[in-house]
Amino acid sequence: MQLTNSYADLPPRFYQRIAPTPVRDPQTLLLNEPLARELGLDPELLAQPDRLAAYFAGNETLPGSQPLALAYAGHQFGGFSPQLGDGRAHLLGELLDRDGARRELQLKGSGRTAFSRGGDGRCALGPAIREFVMSEAMYGLNIATTRSLVVVSTGEPVFRETALPGAVVTRVARSHLRVGTFQYFAVRRDVDALRRLADYAIERLYPELRDGTDRYMALLEAVIAAQLELVMDWMRVGFIHGVMNTDNTTISGETIDFGPCAMMSAYDPKAVFSSIDRMGRYAFGNQPAIIAWNMARLAETLVPLLDDDEDRGLERAQQCIAGVPERLDDAWHTMMARKLGLPDGEAEEDRVLTGALLTRMHSEQLDYTITFDRLTRALAPDPEPTLLAALEPRWVESWRARLAARGVEPARAREAMRRQNPVVIPRNHHVEAVIEYTTRTGDPSRAQALLEVLRDPYTVGAATAEYQDPPEDGDRDYVTFCGT
Ligand code: AMP
Ligand code: MG
Repeated sequence: MQLTNSYADLPPRFYQRIAPTPVRDPQTLLLNEPLARELGLDPELLAQPDRLAAYFAGNETLPGSQPLALAYAGHQFGGFSPQLGDGRAHLLGELLDRDGARRELQLKGSGRTAFSRGGDGRCALGPAIREFVMSEAMYGLNIATTRSLVVVSTGEPVFRETALPGAVVTRVARSHLRVGTFQYFAVRRDVDALRRLADYAIERLYPELRDGTDRYMALLEAVIAAQLELVMDWMRVGFIHGVMNTDNTTISGETIDFGPCAMMSAYDPKAVFSSIDRMGRYAFGNQPAIIAWNMARLAETLVPLLDDDEDRGLERAQQCIAGVPERLDDAWHTMMARKLGLPDGEAEEDRVLTGALLTRMHSEQLDYTITFDRLTRALAPDPEPTLLAALEPRWVESWRARLAARGVEPARAREAMRRQNPVVIPRNHHVEAVIEYTTRTGDPSRAQALLEVLRDPYTVGAATAEYQDPPEDGDRDYVTFCGT
């Protein structure tokens, strides 16, 4: 395994060159074997937990690695911080996976950097396990996401409200560029850096735009398209990111940072679980509006690249952003129609149908995943008669009539719906139980058992039923915390 690091070719003001801080007693706790194979990691290395732990704790340097802490800024809960950056992460480098795709390896929890501000540069074990499980669940759900390769426990405590065991998690991403990376240079009026950053992003993530005449506008549009698709995928499965700050919004369109994320159980647009989100800014139903806002922040940074004339550049950015809310609204309705087996294209009438269903689900506090799973199963040749008992019979009739009117056979609708509607999601209480158990015992078996189910969430397997139950208390008292 030989790493390269194309980011290190960018000017020094893009990052700090800094090695991870070694830890006392690194132990491999979780290894993502399918991902390790995808990345083509040396099987000999994988068979040696000690060496693996030393590399992925940052105690030893992987061949070719040039560790960097990346500079970025960001809007956090709407307020702008001109300087955030990797305060507890090190980009180790890139490698080509077995499909020839470039993937970045980053350690998180690997020590202080120039961007740490007051932080200790460390990560507690619980949040590291959470990132590992949740990112793999998202991948299983077919949602663009960063992934986790290894969780190494450090043998050192980290001090939060109490002393907690420490960990380093290795994150794998197509790219760690964020909206906040562009903001970092925009706020410094460093147009040269912005241009280099935009060119780098195009080269790495959207090479098909390389030779276009208007490539910075094309980049903006490509990021918007990727983020719209991503957020609609979150909405499709009930994922609440929890901290959609612009520094946690990728240029690649991958899900990143699983700190206070949660899954919605009962359908509720206002669902929010993060302890720090008191205003509900990042509530489930707000996520489309927030991504529109974050894309506007990205557009602003690109103004100097969109036209030599600043006013004209601003006008072009605004034109591009102006269409986003309507596109989001269309995308939301298309996504919902697909969850009901309805083909794209006749939005108006389908909207009435999905609207009525969601109103019912909200007022009856029906579980999002279970309801759509039941609707899917209701189209089987011989369904259980009580499957849709929670829904209004008249609504069910009009749904079936709508499918018939659109010429969709139930069997075909069911197949299409199955691809949209998971049978199992990483339910908060199961994820918490696994984190608690794994942290306490150091035994990875329960995490692996959960992951085996979550890697195939559209299929009922032998153990699926163990993880399908909704929370007994409807997650009423569930609270998530930022992994700081
Ligand atoms: P996050 O909430 O994880 O997206 O982090 C926001 C910012 O805080 C980023 O710049 C992080 O690098 C930084 N940060 C979070 N936790 C720590 C920590 N324990 N030590 C240093 N920096 C941190
Ligand atoms: Mg972050």
